[in-house]
Amino acid sequence: MTDLKGKTALITGSTSGIGLGIAQVLAAHGANVVLNGFGDVLAAQESVTRYAGRVGYHGADLAQPDQIADLMRYVESEFGGADILVNNAGIQHVANVQDFAPERWDAVIAINLSAAFHTMRLAIDGMKARGWGRIINIASTHGLVASAQKSAYVAAKHGLIGLTKAAALELAQTGVTCNAICPGWVKTPLVEKQIADRAAATGISVAQATRDLLIEKQPSAEFVTPQQLGELALFLSSNAAAQVRGAAWAMDGGWTAQ
Ligand code: NAD
Repeated sequence: MTDLKGKTALITGSTSGIGLGIAQVLAAHGANVVLNGFGDVLAAQESVTRYAGRVGYHGADLAQPDQIADLMRYVESEFGGADILVNNAGIQHVANVQDFAPERWDAVIAINLSAAFHTMRLAIDGMKARGWGRIINIASTHGLVASAQKSAYVAAKHGLIGLTKAAALELAQTGVTCNAICPGWVKTPLVEKQIADRAAATGISVAQATRDLLIEKQPSAEFVTPQQLGELALFLSSNAAAQVRGAAWAMDGGWTAQ
């Protein structure tokens, strides 16, 4: 069993969905976890405090580089730095390119792509100095293939995989690895909103919209779960994964095999 006792994992956007699932799995394997994100912070904290490690929280808005710098200073001063950095915070906006509001484009790129650059740029020296580190970027199937009306998200996620590969090469002869995880559909608030919008737009039930959404892209017709993604992040954090470098690892029910 992978033992992360003594390691600190910073998971951005970990107050709900995939980030919270990853935080729970890493905490269950002994890591200290630093949570970040908005919404029901208390419930998120409570769901990880039952494990052995310490739990921290910082409410940085990841669209703001100065707040990211403050988050990284907090992890450094309270926990001695992030050994495992999971760049997970993300938002979605759906519109055709010609209708895409420029401020929504900027927000999607800032949170889904630039934030990972800023956390990485501020975490790498500490990881290298300690001789060990794991950077795990939560991309998407949309980092590998596109869907209509998601230009900013697709651009950000393709960019995140490019960033992952470049950093992995720069770090190739160190104890620090950098990889991306590419989930297919996961039933989280981010996707529940898309299902609700789809049901409203087409006048079908939420149950039918859920089935349609899944079958259109994901051959398994089942959602990936935050727990399964947490277990993959745990593997990438293990010593068995020391030579997994620059990978974009799909967990997508067969979406990108088509
Ligand atoms: P979610 O909406 O449940 O969670 C998003 C998290 O990010 C929340 O904790 C939220 O508070 C936080 N967040 C949003 N904006 C932020 C900001 N400006 N600063 C700090 N935190 C912020 O979404 P999710 O589905 O769990 O998505 C998590 C990641 O997984 C995203 O990067 C998303 O693109 C990716 N992803 C999701 C799916 C899916 O099907 N749900 C599939 C592929 C990839």
